[in-house]
Amino acid sequence: MSSNNPPRSTHTVASRLTLWYALFYTLFCLVMLLAVTAVMNSNAVKRMDQYLSAEIDEFNAIYETDGIEGLAKEFRQEAEAYGAQKLFCRLLSPNREPRLTSNIAGWEGLDAELRAVAVPTVPLQPAFQMLYPAASPFNARMATLKTADGHLLQFGINLQSENRSRQKIQRFLIIGSVLFLGVSTLFSWVVAQRAMAGVKAVTRAVSFTRKDALDQTLPLEKKGREIDDLVDAFNGMLARIQSLILEIKEVSDNVAHDLRSPITRMRGAAETTLMGPQEIEPYREMGSTILEECDRLTGIINITLEIAQAESGLLEIRRNPIDLYALLSDAAELFQPVAEQKNIRLDVRIEPAPLTLPGDQTRIQRVVANLLDNAIKYTPEGGEIVLAATADKQSVRFSISDAGPGIDPAETERIFERFYRGEQSRSSQGNGLGLSFARSIVVAHGGTLTVENNPDHGCTFTATLPLVPPETR
Ligand code: ADP
Repeated sequence: MSSNNPPRSTHTVASRLTLWYALFYTLFCLVMLLAVTAVMNSNAVKRMDQYLSAEIDEFNAIYETDGIEGLAKEFRQEAEAYGAQKLFCRLLSPNREPRLTSNIAGWEGLDAELRAVAVPTVPLQPAFQMLYPAASPFNARMATLKTADGHLLQFGINLQSENRSRQKIQRFLIIGSVLFLGVSTLFSWVVAQRAMAGVKAVTRAVSFTRKDALDQTLPLEKKGREIDDLVDAFNGMLARIQSLILEIKEVSDNVAHDLRSPITRMRGAAETTLMGPQEIEPYREMGSTILEECDRLTGIINITLEIAQAESGLLEIRRNPIDLYALLSDAAELFQPVAEQKNIRLDVRIEPAPLTLPGDQTRIQRVVANLLDNAIKYTPEGGEIVLAATADKQSVRFSISDAGPGIDPAETERIFERFYRGEQSRSSQGNGLGLSFARSIVVAHGGTLTVENNPDHGCTFTATLPLVPPETR
């Protein structure tokens, strides 16, 4: 059996939730890190370009007023102030010959880079560029400006310190993200554990429910609405199992009782006969008693099986058009002799219009026969029984009213249970299966069978059957 069971999950819901949270946080941190770095870079470049632009404008102004000597002085001052490693300044002739250069000893590989620099087309408007000197461990940002006389002014700044501080911030962000990831994963784990605590409590309570204590209910521990719903659903299921077990027990008790009686009677008959005179007559009687009891037993077994099949939906119900007037009249005619014995009047009151019902003719006949049999059984001598039928657009209804004692309101539903026999009917013949059979057949047709006491005396059993079977609606 167990080899057919589907494989069980190896991961707990809590660990899955934590994993998903961790994945989500990682992605979130990555995206944030990329976004922050991109914003930081673009801001730094913008600020740097503003600075370069102001400086190179100043160089140009000095060049225009003080010529190349003034510019040389300014280059020197700048290099002294910031250090030759930090910046470089250059003036190139229109044919790109260096006319004036600050100390570029610390800018290895710069020359090769500078040669590839694009010349701005519009004079007096700086163009900006990133430089990646091949032999230098740093990159640089450079502004190039075309002077009014066609010379090129270049001013570059080494971004090493900016890069360092940016790297510091990035490192700080990465460490922060990793810490945040760790803390949030831990937090998610705790939250998931707490969320699952209710489910675990239910599982524990269910495991502790003893096999013989299905009447217990799980307590509501108010661990959240979903858990309360689960507990409610579980308690509902326990209640249904409990009622099914009780029903099975009751039915098996009744079956045992009802089967035991005929068997005891058969045994008694056989024993008495065997102990008596060895003559043919007592043996004949014994044979007929045993036959009768066997028929009774077979009847009980068959009808019990049929009810069980009808209730579980396994009974095949054929749906042919049934002429209800003919069916009720035939039943009345069939029971006429029995009714006459008790001087009971059978009255079929049905509208002249044809009433057709889609259904299983033989089984509906047996439903009517059961109801009519009961009506005659419980109606006192000289009483009247009325068979009636009506129809509307959706359903057909037929009823059998008698003049008997009616039904004790406390027993209204119980009389439809298998093997149930009313207190006052225990002495009369019957097995308590007639109404149970009738209701199971009517329900299998998609209808209902109910009983109501009449205002004066007796009761009316009413079967309502749909004209269109429920499954084809
Ligand atoms: P049975 O008639 O064999 O006892 P049923 O299932 O037909 O079994 O009926 C169950 C019980 O319902 C009966 O024992 C009786 O108490 C009650 N009952 C059924 N029909 C009538 C009726 N027409 N009038 C009064 N009581 C009835």
